[in-house]
Amino acid sequence: MTIQNHFPYVNNKMFAENVALHDIAEQVGTPFYCYSNTAIAENFQHYQQAFSDQEVLICYAIKANSNQAVLTTLAKLGSGADVVSEGEIRRARAAGISAAKIVYSGVAKSASEIEYALSEGIFQFNVESEPELKLISQIATRLEKVAAIAFRINPDVCANTHEKISTGKAENKFGVPISQAKIAYRRAAELPGIKVQGVDVHIGSQLTELAPFEEAYKRIAQLVTELKEDGHDIQVIDIGGGLGITYDNEVIPPKTHYAAIAKTQLGHLNCKIVIEPGRSLLGNAGILVSRVVFVKTGEERQFLILDAGMNDLVRPSMYEAHHEILAVNKANAAMKTYDVVGPVCETGDTFAKARSVNICQSGDLIAIMSSGAYGAVMASTYNTRMLAPEVMVKDNEYAIIRHRPSYEEVINADAVPNWV
Ligand SMILES: *Cc1c(COP(=O)(O)O)cnc(C)c1O
Repeated sequence: MTIQNHFPYVNNKMFAENVALHDIAEQVGTPFYCYSNTAIAENFQHYQQAFSDQEVLICYAIKANSNQAVLTTLAKLGSGADVVSEGEIRRARAAGISAAKIVYSGVAKSASEIEYALSEGIFQFNVESEPELKLISQIATRLEKVAAIAFRINPDVCANTHEKISTGKAENKFGVPISQAKIAYRRAAELPGIKVQGVDVHIGSQLTELAPFEEAYKRIAQLVTELKEDGHDIQVIDIGGGLGITYDNEVIPPKTHYAAIAKTQLGHLNCKIVIEPGRSLLGNAGILVSRVVFVKTGEERQFLILDAGMNDLVRPSMYEAHHEILAVNKANAAMKTYDVVGPVCETGDTFAKARSVNICQSGDLIAIMSSGAYGAVMASTYNTRMLAPEVMVKDNEYAIIRHRPSYEEVINADAVPNWV
């Protein structure tokens, strides 16, 4: 069972903190994303506590959920940001995250993005290749700036996660192979406009065990020792993100154990530790609320057809991801087995097959759990469906933090040339 403490049932009706989801649905319409501000803050504070005896910079991986209200919540708690585009740098800065707390990851940073990051004065570029390093050096030299860099090291460990979110094997596109790291650092130290400051590793997402982290950090510790012997002043070790969440029945090691492994493997190196959690801060702090449009009886199955689709939450069709599906009103305790599907014209638009849910009727509200990370940010307007609005709840208050666009906004974003 998913653990989403801030979405409790009260008298058989699901709440977000102290607000009934029914009330939000009445005002906002469905589908909508709903986030618990308290859950986000608690998740962040658990990381702070777990690393409290270590110099740490928590850089929220904002690609998991980049709504400005989410970023502002985390910025006020002291979070930095792990970004993967100029757009995300701009979002982080707009939310009040200082440039000195921004690390910039990504395999394809463009010249104009690098220039923007340098002009802002970010904390660190996590460099993924030698061509990228050369480009950063050229641009920094031209602007008379110095880029602080870490190489993202591919430690060649298997993260035991879904192949689409595994990044630390030798065959993945990410980072510099650990076998070539020392040469890469030697070259970097000779380039103008570059300050070698750190080592970075991120092996994948939704990891449910600590052993792959431990193995990766062990290899990184060895590398840092060797780099120091080579005369590099390594001050930062960025250990990436990737700690998983419970979607179904995964047992996730506590953040304190995760921190203990990092400290055991890396603590003696006297470096500042950067962590880049995304999913583990937001995933179970959010849900997607949808309405049953029709209950359809097929020849072999019963279908619950929702007003949310794969364009709103793509994880089930993209990663075969499991999300718990709960009736918002559980007053009728009888259960039934349904295929839960969306309205999009694709067979892949399926949230769950043969899932037991409280018996539903057209018009009932459904909560798709654990949708706070990689949900709204991956949504599209496929089938000209309006992006689902996002709502944040705190105690007994709630606010729309991204509105549902009007049809006019969406249609008028296109332009028809006069020669058509
Ligand atoms: C996606 C990503 C993260 C965050 O991963 P989570 O699994 O959401 O914690 C951190 N660092 C980098 C480089 C990433 O690409």
